[in-house]
Amino acid sequence: MQTKNPLEFFRTLPPKQCPQCGNQITEQAESYLMECDHCLSKKDEY
Ligand SMILES: [Zn+2]
Repeated sequence: MQTKNPLEFFRTLPPKQCPQCGNQITEQAESYLMECDHCLSKKDEY
């Protein structure tokens, strides 16, 4: 993905990134874990 300018990049930069899959973690997600919803659900099934 290409950004128009560095400012735009920082504005859209997610606060956290999932170390498992690299997905961006939404702020509304529970932040007690560092994984995204996808990986969290996978862990739950595990
Ligand atoms: Zn993930």
